[in-house]
Amino acid sequence: MTGALVVLGGGAAGMSAASAARRADPDREIVVLESTGHAAYGLCGLPYHLSGVVPDAESLVSYPPAFFRERRRIDLRLHAEAVALDVARREVHVRTAGGVERVGYTDLVVTTGGTPSRPPVPVPDGTAVHTVRTLEDAVALRALLDSGRVRTAAVVGAGYIGLETAEALHARGVRVTVVERLDGVLTTLDEPVAARVEEHVRVHVELLLGTDAGPVLAERRPDLVVLCTGVRPAAGIAAAAGAATGPGGALLVDDRMRTDLPGVWAAGDCVAPHHRVLGRPAFVPLGPAANRTGRVAGTNAAGGDARFGGVVGTAVVKVFDLEVARTGLTLAEARAEGVAATATDVTSRSRAKYYPGAVPLHVRLVHGAGGRVLGAQLVGREGAAKRVDVVAAALHAGLDVDDLAALDLAYAPPYSPVYDPLLVVAQAAQRELARVA
Ligand SMILES: Cc1cc2nc3c(=O)[nH]c(=O)nc-3n(C[C@H](O)[C@H](O)[C@H](O)COP(=O)(O)OP(=O)(O)OC[C@H]3O[C@@H](n4cnc5c(N)ncnc54)[C@H](O)[C@@H]3O)c2cc1C
Repeated sequence: MTGALVVLGGGAAGMSAASAARRADPDREIVVLESTGHAAYGLCGLPYHLSGVVPDAESLVSYPPAFFRERRRIDLRLHAEAVALDVARREVHVRTAGGVERVGYTDLVVTTGGTPSRPPVPVPDGTAVHTVRTLEDAVALRALLDSGRVRTAAVVGAGYIGLETAEALHARGVRVTVVERLDGVLTTLDEPVAARVEEHVRVHVELLLGTDAGPVLAERRPDLVVLCTGVRPAAGIAAAAGAATGPGGALLVDDRMRTDLPGVWAAGDCVAPHHRVLGRPAFVPLGPAANRTGRVAGTNAAGGDARFGGVVGTAVVKVFDLEVARTGLTLAEARAEGVAATATDVTSRSRAKYYPGAVPLHVRLVHGAGGRVLGAQLVGREGAAKRVDVVAAALHAGLDVDDLAALDLAYAPPYSPVYDPLLVVAQAAQRELARVA
């Protein structure tokens, strides 16, 4: 008889894995070990709970634990932290309220996610310090905000979670300073595109770039410090057991999400899946890939057959009134990779020129040898999110600039000019390519 399938972590990847495993094998014993008191909730919604857009933290929970236990017959154990992995014995050492116990497995899926990097930022005594990584974090921070004791806050880090957090705190009437060590916001964008976001952020909150947080905190003594300084893969347990790691220390997996340890699969933020544009593994910790890699890992671990087609690095974020989106490679990323690339920039419109509400939409298209589409970045008050997905599809299909220019995209005055901004940028890229040919 096939023994237990154990999943480490009850986040997006873990619960997707467990549910997929149940579909692949209706009879298998499936155990999920989750270190916190919550499972299956939307981490991505945490900033919106802080701001009050999502008033009730419980509504971030996709399904309550009872759903998994009763409807899917998944043994979901909360407050159960895996502390070590014994691959030879196929056992996980698990810390619970009752001490450390051993849980045997036949197949193991590691979905331990990411951990916030916590740089050694000296924070003045008595200042509340938070991160935004778990539901518990958000509930605690929300309670502090609700208490009315926070008038000033410093958000350390101007990546997308830092900017979402700054927006949330600003919405709660807090005077916010964002402090970033690097010289720009959102370093996952090329500098000229990020500069547009930076300008917009400065309209709403104070932004200190190229600045060490320590002295600022010492001088300002804000009521609250929120550390949003990035995420590292929480790959420690599997790595300590000998699993191979790659970019950023994330676990290396094949297209079935198999690690190089026998009987061990992995998925979500703790892995570096195949990046289709780079042609190699990459650490791109985002929600859709966590769900999908989890599903693939769970299916295969339960004896089914599934493959993951890879990521192209598609992301979108709301920054105050802006939609900011990217997919594929930035020009800087392409060049760092040794890929010859060019960027074509246009500022078009989100709607027909005459239609009320038309706003500028900036598009940067990155293209390489032979006009191959390598990526895009879009910034505007509307229209970026819809269009980044078209470019993501183009990347999956391996389209070039001519293909992009030939796409039959939807048009109506409230949604787009008759030449969609993507067609405009593709045509501009064609002209540029013709000039250099
Ligand atoms: C504030 C915020 C906003 C975000 N917004 C977006 C967005 O808008 N779009 C987007 O695409 N992505 C977004 N993300 C990223 C996205 O949420 C993650 O990519 C996704 O949640 C990863 O899922 P996961 O299951 O791999 O990891 P997690 O969701 O982190 O789940 C891992 C789970 O494993 C548990 N765990 C860890 N170690 C152990 C252990 N040793 N034993 C037992 N359990 C353990 C953890 O407690 C956790 O519950 C956001 C993330 C954050 C924090």
